[in-house]
Amino acid sequence: MSGITVEKVRKTFGSFEALKSVSLEVKPEEFTVLLGASGCGKSTLLRIIAGLETESSGVIKIGDRQVNGVAPRDRRIAMVFQNYAVFPHMTVFENIGFGLRMKKAPEDQVKRQVEKAATLMHIEQQLPKYSGQLSGGQRQRVAVARALAVEPEVLLMDEPLSNLDALLRMEMRAELKGLLAESKTTTIYVTHDQVEAMSLADRIAVMHQGEIVQYDVPTRVYHEPATMFVGGFLGNPPMNFLHLDAAGKVGGVQFTRPATGSAEAILGVRPEDIEIVDENSGDALQAKVGVVELLGANSQVTTTVDGQVVRVTARPDITARHGDTLWLKPTVERIGWYDKHSGHRQVA
Ligand code: ATP
Repeated sequence: MSGITVEKVRKTFGSFEALKSVSLEVKPEEFTVLLGASGCGKSTLLRIIAGLETESSGVIKIGDRQVNGVAPRDRRIAMVFQNYAVFPHMTVFENIGFGLRMKKAPEDQVKRQVEKAATLMHIEQQLPKYSGQLSGGQRQRVAVARALAVEPEVLLMDEPLSNLDALLRMEMRAELKGLLAESKTTTIYVTHDQVEAMSLADRIAVMHQGEIVQYDVPTRVYHEPATMFVGGFLGNPPMNFLHLDAAGKVGGVQFTRPATGSAEAILGVRPEDIEIVDENSGDALQAKVGVVELLGANSQVTTTVDGQVVRVTARPDITARHGDTLWLKPTVERIGWYDKHSGHRQVA
């Protein structure tokens, strides 16, 4: 299998810069997710890799081969889109074999590769059926099998699950992960759904306003977000950010910022990395309870500390009420420091 290399790719639409010098290296067999809010440029980047859109400058390589200017059909890629257009009047076999027949592959090869892709997607029993008779999840599998049947070096997927209802989407997400791990195809997958990204990716490239702001394994993107934007974009509720006073205190607790960082660094901590303790043990922040929401497996407590909002994920049986005082103890190893001006994480 081939890797994918994107080097300093820019894309402008008139005076609008949709991609600002984006570089990305996807290793062979790796599953990379492009994650970001609507309009950040993820589909544009995917379409440029596919050859459906032309870059303004920069280099795209699939394996060792530079593919700038190469037509999509000659890039050895396959794509699955949100509107995956499985043809209802064709059988599953015909749908999966569609790309191969377009390429005028010999019939014995079509048969072999269709059966292989169908088996990989666990739909080999459905091959004689008409696609119109299938469920949404089965049709989705047909779309992925159709892409895999051409045995692409690279699989590009743009929000392929977003047309499915919530439950099916969750099932397909888990299944897709297993199925694509078996196929070993190098994959780039576009989504705005952070849960999908965390679940599927070997590495997540978080995009913001035409740039990749962090490219790393999911645990690191989640626990050590490179910027305040990433910390706020991932996590539900997002990471808390606290400004310290001139003496380095907040909520009555003195903090020591990393020696190498700026003197005005902002403290970042995730809601689940804060413990609620009964009384002030000296290292706990004094907080006022705003609302307590029971969310089933846990409760979410919204508090204020020196007038700043701090959300805490707490046990479901917490008895605190609006107006109560609580003591919050952030897990020291989980605290990150962020530059007030650039928003970048500072290395301790
Ligand atoms: P979404 O999830 O909504 O599809 P995205 O992150 O995939 O968002 P892109 O589709 O890549 O975003 O678009 C990035 C930006 O480029 C957007 O601001 C969009 O309006 C702009 N854009 C995309 N295609 C064109 C085009 N053909 N002409 C002008 N502007 C475009």
